Amino acid sequence: MIRSRSSGSSGKFVDLFYHADSFIIQELHVLRMIKDLYPEYCPTDKELLVYTSEYPFSSIFGFYKVIYVNNLSIADTILNTIQAVNPSVIAIYPSVLRELLDKSDNKLSCEKLKLILTNSEQSSQLERDHFANICGCTVLDEYSSEELQSIAYQCRNYQYHLVQDCSYIEILSPNSDKKLNMGEDGEVVGTNLTNFAMPLIRYRQQDLASLNDSVCSCGKTAPIMSSISGRINSSFKRADGLIIPSGKILDWTYSLVLSMNLGIREFEIVQQTLNDIVVNIVVTGNFKINQDERIIIDSFRMMFGNDYHVSVHIVSSIPRQKTGKHIPIKSLV
Ligand SMILES: [Zn+2]
Repeated sequence: MIRSRSSGSSGKFVDLFYHADSFIIQELHVLRMIKDLYPEYCPTDKELLVYTSEYPFSSIFGFYKVIYVNNLSIADTILNTIQAVNPSVIAIYPSVLRELLDKSDNKLSCEKLKLILTNSEQSSQLERDHFANICGCTVLDEYSSEELQSIAYQCRNYQYHLVQDCSYIEILSPNSDKKLNMGEDGEVVGTNLTNFAMPLIRYRQQDLASLNDSVCSCGKTAPIMSSISGRINSSFKRADGLIIPSGKILDWTYSLVLSMNLGIREFEIVQQTLNDIVVNIVVTGNFKINQDERIIIDSFRMMFGNDYHVSVHIVSSIPRQKTGKHIPIKSLV
């Protein structure tokens, strides 16, 4: 039995126990996912894992090697590792990838790269498309947690299909056990099907999403998870009672950077009180201080409500969590 430390959706560190058999299943799952998304992945290809901890395996009988680099390493160390390893697949946090592209002038020096898998943090399709354009490879997102392992990952049509042999997922009404119908937004609740040492049954992931059974042309028949709109605790509240999912706010921030081309390198949006929003940003030389601050304020209020008082602060850096995770949308309300 092996102990694993998790800082899952609750934000608290918890100990999880896994039987060794669970790791073999995880290993096969990772390989199957990569082969599914990049069928030409061959035994001599390598995966680079940029993460807080290593997988419990580093190859399958010497093939399909996984090379690990800690995501808290400085960008130059990760960039040098990418160059030295020349992986076909990179699994990475979106915020770390963003930083690497920033530091390397959008060049990852990796000829073999065919697939980037983002995980662990929210990112928008708009930003992943942007990464794919820059890196010249496919960029897809995996939705997973330490507690439930793989929950869903995107197919080539960018739909999140459930990974039904890893976890049994239900959408329940938040704060109750009422099961919701297909298409209804609710809390993601899952039962881990691969942990034989410490069963987790109906674990509340504290994320909001819905399921639908529409047909996808990729050929998978597993239900599709849609409207993955982030953590319940990160949703913004409005004085009239409306709840704004953090995913919607995240989409708004990417439109500022990618559509409106504001010079923003990093950001953090915090709801301080029911009416007060703080926007912390790290800017580039292109940011026009008064003019662009006004655009951010007006755009937020137009999008989410004129009752909000929005203040913009230019900061030198945005602190990360101990695990290196960047939480861009926070609610203190
Ligand atoms: Zn599909």
